[in-house]
Amino acid sequence: MPTALSILQHTFGYPAFRGQQADIVEHVAANGDALVLMPTGGGKSLCYQIPALLRPGCGIVVSPLIALMQDQVDALTQLGVRAAFLNSTLDLQEANAIEQRLLNGELDLLYVAPERLLTPRFQSLLRRSQIAIFAIDEAHCVSQWGHDFRPEYIQLSVLHENFPDIPRIALTATADHLTRLEIVDRLALQEAKVFLSSFDRPNIRYAVVEKDNPRKQLLYFLRNAHPGDAGIVYCLSRKKVEETAKWLQEQGIRALPYHAGLDASTRQAHQTRFLREDNMVIVATVAFGMGIDKPDVRFVAHLNLPKSLEGYYQETGRAGRDGLPASAWMTYGLQDVILLREMIEQSGTPDEIKRIERQKLDAMLGYCEAPSCRRQVLLHYFSEDATPCGNCDLCLNPPQTWDATTAVRKALSTIYRSGQRYGAGHVIDILLGRETAKMRECGHQHLSTFGIGKDVSEAQWRSTLRQLVATAMVGVSEHGGLHLLDACRAVLRGEQTLQLRRVSDDKQIISAGSKTATVTLDTDEERELWAALRQCRKHLAEEQNVPAYVIFGDATLKHMLEKRPQSLEALHAISGIGDMKLEKYGTDFLAVLQRHHKIHAL
Ligand code: ADP
Ligand code: ZN
Repeated sequence: MPTALSILQHTFGYPAFRGQQADIVEHVAANGDALVLMPTGGGKSLCYQIPALLRPGCGIVVSPLIALMQDQVDALTQLGVRAAFLNSTLDLQEANAIEQRLLNGELDLLYVAPERLLTPRFQSLLRRSQIAIFAIDEAHCVSQWGHDFRPEYIQLSVLHENFPDIPRIALTATADHLTRLEIVDRLALQEAKVFLSSFDRPNIRYAVVEKDNPRKQLLYFLRNAHPGDAGIVYCLSRKKVEETAKWLQEQGIRALPYHAGLDASTRQAHQTRFLREDNMVIVATVAFGMGIDKPDVRFVAHLNLPKSLEGYYQETGRAGRDGLPASAWMTYGLQDVILLREMIEQSGTPDEIKRIERQKLDAMLGYCEAPSCRRQVLLHYFSEDATPCGNCDLCLNPPQTWDATTAVRKALSTIYRSGQRYGAGHVIDILLGRETAKMRECGHQHLSTFGIGKDVSEAQWRSTLRQLVATAMVGVSEHGGLHLLDACRAVLRGEQTLQLRRVSDDKQIISAGSKTATVTLDTDEERELWAALRQCRKHLAEEQNVPAYVIFGDATLKHMLEKRPQSLEALHAISGIGDMKLEKYGTDFLAVLQRHHKIHAL
């Protein structure tokens, strides 16, 4: 009888379980139900794949991600696991053949779309087959409030009713507490053991830069921090997506657009290129994302403020699934806040929901204007404690603060005296004493605060107003007009002093996303070997028509670079090289390593 550890080592090629994987596998293999809450990249797949291999019969994996099933099955087949999928992309004959394999006990894992699973025909097929476990992936799809909602997921509780003796494991990377409760309720998992991991993603470096020519800032970030890397750029609108993708292409970046307005075949083609080629940038609306299983997404950039920290966490979580360094980078300005507020107010949703949406946006603002470690803010929001991380822009480059009490009083009184309905731009013009047409039109050049803020730069004023909005001293109407809120009274009365963040100079603003290299290649010799290993992988991937990472992930190539194995045995000890892959690709990679060794030994 193989053990969980021997399967991990021989089939998957990993030396040890991570985090709670071992406990989860043991629990499910011993017939227990489980709810697994683990961040993206935490290693959820092994939690159901290994129990399925340990128990007699086939593991049934319910997944909404039809586009991914082929790659998932390819990856398992590479490892020698007998895997298949059933979804609408198969014709009748192909589907029948797979059903037959299930009945004959010739499958270890079968991925199924939920709508197919629920058909009476499939339920009857299941009754006639030996089932090892049911795995419900992306379990948050049961939540009607999330934007990944799949109505069929709600009916998945029938699995429990029809097959009470088969263990079920539901998995999700959703950090949100209410969604977790909903999963338990709707999937009837009250008896299941809950395995909750930390939602920290230590390899992701968070950074927020003040918006000032966002395209240029993005380009600078791409060229300096992530040249030649794969990544996702999120924009708010389809139009922005198109424009940004086109502009990046003109700048020589391999960028493609993706949004719901493109026809299905274009979307599919762009997604496939992103998954298969290892240096594509996809510019997208939030429609792009769920089920992007690509492990080597090196950055996620936001050109607009997301609506909530839940969304932000999920979107940025698509970076660095392989555990290697990755970036979450965002540009943000007051205009974003105004736009989102406007969208909330005009959405026509009930007041109750609007109130929640406003709170979520405020939390998002709190993250952008955080005075110290961003990761702390993010994890606190998900009720986790954390110490300063050392891997976010604020930890790496602590912002300077200044005593802004006097300046803030000038700003507050300008807002008050001009009637509490003008936007940040005009308020700043008053403070700086600018005689614009609008100024003359409103007669604001006669205000006593006209020109009293010339000692502070425009950028500093913009930042100050944003911080006042983020700390709820100043409110923004849906048209962008600023007004005073209760919290500013103490400052106005001189009872409270205020330390605010000083705006960084332009160079710092732009470079806040510093280089986060996947592998540090210090010498020409190392660069040469790295390129040769990648070339070998690319060649094999093309030959087999699978994504490069299905052959070996970057983490595995990195180990090869570090350890320089010179025999098949030594290669077998590399993390990510199991029995089957050693047999298939061992000699190819060994040849590359030996050739390189010989050349450089001379
Ligand atoms: P999730 O589904 O939670 O996002 P995956 O199951 O895709 O995560 O795993 C993320 C990455 O980590 C994959 O490349 C996987 O092969 C790797 N991985 C998972 N478990 C281990 C382990 N015990 N040792 C080494 N690598 C692992
Ligand atoms: Zn930090």
